[in-house]
Amino acid sequence: VTATIRVREDLCIGGGQCVFAAPDLFAQRDEDGVVVLLAERPAPEQVSAARRAAALCPVSAISVTDV
Ligand code: SF4
Repeated sequence: VTATIRVREDLCIGGGQCVFAAPDLFAQRDEDGVVVLLAERPAPEQVSAARRAAALCPVSAISVTDV
């Protein structure tokens, strides 16, 4: 199964939990720590990490949708 990841930069508070959970999928901008999505379409083996990141995000800025 694969998925599409979306991030809401306007909601992100830059805590970095998503980067901790899935460093291959998320990074943070140097200037303000706002999330940078590295891969909109994760590889199948990355989907569970993407879901963990979404669950950890304190402001629900990450969505993972099955495709
Ligand atoms: S976990 Fe959520 S709030 Fe924190 S950096 Fe990632 S997207 Fe932003």
